[in-house]
Amino acid sequence: MKAIRIHENGGPEVLRYEEVPIPAPGPAEALVKIQASGVNFIDIYFRQGLYKAALPITLGQEAAGVVEKVGAEIKDLAPGDRVAYAGTPGAYAQYAAVPAARLVKLPAGIDSRNAAAVMLQGMTAHYLATATFPLEPGHTALVHAAAGGVGLLLIQIAKMRGARVFGTVSTEEKAALARRAGADEVILYASQDFEAEVRRLTSGVGVDVVYDSVALTTWEKSLRSLRQRGMLVLYGNSSGPAPAIDPLRLSQQGSLFLTRPKLGDYVATRQELLQRAGEVLDWVAAGRLHVHIGETFPLQDAAQAQEALAGRRTAGKVLLIP
Ligand code: NDP
Repeated sequence: MKAIRIHENGGPEVLRYEEVPIPAPGPAEALVKIQASGVNFIDIYFRQGLYKAALPITLGQEAAGVVEKVGAEIKDLAPGDRVAYAGTPGAYAQYAAVPAARLVKLPAGIDSRNAAAVMLQGMTAHYLATATFPLEPGHTALVHAAAGGVGLLLIQIAKMRGARVFGTVSTEEKAALARRAGADEVILYASQDFEAEVRRLTSGVGVDVVYDSVALTTWEKSLRSLRQRGMLVLYGNSSGPAPAIDPLRLSQQGSLFLTRPKLGDYVATRQELLQRAGEVLDWVAAGRLHVHIGETFPLQDAAQAQEALAGRRTAGKVLLIP
């Protein structure tokens, strides 16, 4: 089968489109024939070496497809089942052997592309808005990179929960997408001072929560955009990781909360995975959550897909089709 692997860390040029054996599923695994793989920022961190993995490795953490074979211990899956998953390496490939405990069966009414598009970013938006800082009517939230893969989904879920939502984006085209997803206010943070805009839009009070995946270029103003006892949720490093922060600053700036969550800890048990993925997939199937697939690339063009994502040229989801 074909797969995109890296043998060393570096730029997009280290991605190699290679012929490798189809993986043999272990007793608790299923072999999935992949129909669509998600491209996520985490794939870039693994390529660069910001997140560590033993090399060589097949990149990719998210896919949807059809079960081809199951291991001896598997009782609740059979060849032909339509499934999706996130958080298991090896998705930039034609096949992957995936622990059955991480697979979710797809409901009718959602195809593989939409499923691959919401497993990682959709469950992330879900836990951010419902568990890390559970939004309620009356809350105001600031969502950075609002037209991104997570961003467009997070705006919609925040609106479902009744929050007032501000989004930041770099271009007018992205602003239109964020507004269409439901953002009440959109700030062009490349040309406008988002902290000043947040203060203006909240009559000086600040927002209850900032969902910040951009980090290096935004974290400081994010902290200053919060109301007293507000929460900064730093959940990515799209512009580079944030530096170490002195806890005293949290006290001086209004008894603030700071958290740095990751998806794995919010789908830690099988029950939590099924609940979170189930709710997201059902919303998509029912038309309550709109998935914006910005671009699809053939598997062999994974380097171009990653360059587009890292270069801020994408909106919504980026997929690879094997
Ligand atoms: P996005 O689609 O959001 O793409 C990243 C966006 O970040 C860009 O489109 C761009 O939007 C914005 N951005 C701002 N500055 C930069 C910069 N210097 N370089 C690149 N992009 C920049 O990606 P994803 O939806 O895949 O992921 C969003 C973030 O969420 C990532 O940081 C990722 O690591 C994180 N994440 C974290 C998870 C967790 O559980 N902790 C799980 C999933 C994702 P604009 O042009 O509008 O500025």
